[in-house]
Amino acid sequence: MPVEKQIVRNRANLVRHNYIEEMEKHLLAFEAAANAHDLSVHWIIDESALVDFVQNLMPKSRFNKVCFDFGKIPDGIKNDNSGLFQFVKIEDFNDNSAEYLFVEADYGIVENGSIALVNKRSGDVFNKVQKLVLLLNINNLVVKQSDLELVLALKQRENESFLPHDIKIITSPFHYVKNETFITSDDEKVNKNDVSVTILLYDNGITEIMENNVLRESLYCIQCGRCSEVCPVYKHTNGFTPIELVKHNSFYRNHLDQNIFKSTTLCGYCEEVCPIDIPLMDLLVAEMEMVNARTNKERNIDTMKIFAKRSKLNKMNGSFRRIFFLRKMYGKNKKIHNYYKTQNENFYSITKTSKE
Ligand code: SF4
Repeated sequence: MPVEKQIVRNRANLVRHNYIEEMEKHLLAFEAAANAHDLSVHWIIDESALVDFVQNLMPKSRFNKVCFDFGKIPDGIKNDNSGLFQFVKIEDFNDNSAEYLFVEADYGIVENGSIALVNKRSGDVFNKVQKLVLLLNINNLVVKQSDLELVLALKQRENESFLPHDIKIITSPFHYVKNETFITSDDEKVNKNDVSVTILLYDNGITEIMENNVLRESLYCIQCGRCSEVCPVYKHTNGFTPIELVKHNSFYRNHLDQNIFKSTTLCGYCEEVCPIDIPLMDLLVAEMEMVNARTNKERNIDTMKIFAKRSKLNKMNGSFRRIFFLRKMYGKNKKIHNYYKTQNENFYSITKTSKE
């Protein structure tokens, strides 16, 4: 790897290290800075607390108009059949069409207590609602604003499909604009008030990962998506990306326990491309060991034995052992099975093998 690229990676890793390793201190500093600018901050431990919070926020017992710009709306809200919510789609958003807009924030900046929204679908309407609630995962903060610039630059450089064309930094309550077509000096037609901004610091299992000295490095991730692009298993299954495999097993125990062994070949491509230098191989193996310790299933232990012998397996390329391995691992998934049958490369990264 070119020296210049490695220097950038080292710096990016340090930026994430500085925040994650002293997360508690930085979260308190973020809260104090945000409060100083009249942004209210609440700490939310998990999805059920999030659902409770949103329900209690509603002023009316029925038909509260809400709009969500979330990757996934929590089931407890989406499937609510009490009539508490009346959902408004972002594309149908007009003045007064929703009372609350909930947006998943991209980053928090500790030094000034501000929030960054990047390329949001709700980017054009977020000042047309009087109550804005921003959900921020507690690992998605950076200490300084200049750190955010590095993170965004890395996301853009490593993933050309990501262009930060719309970045909004929210540092304080801002003006509510009822109808921006009429933003003139004509007071009769312009209705401006402050939009109240509430920030929800969302744990959702992150502090649990923090307690694990190995897995906590997965929180350095900046969601650039590069590891998913190179993962041969993900390309064929469209299931879970390498970093998701590490994090989701910890978040949702048992949900993926059966899958992690079939969702990676430990080829090491993801680790090679990660701009933050996250040791994904070590994390995946650590996660597998945790799954084994939890489930103690004979089949998984066998699989671990196979992984442990990977350097030997590589020397046997094209031999019966390789065919055996493919059948055992991917016999039920024809796409992946056929893919590996046609590959002449090693199953596992040479770098990794040479370290053993
Ligand atoms: S783990 Fe994957 S998504 Fe996260 S920073 Fe590294 S390459 Fe990007």
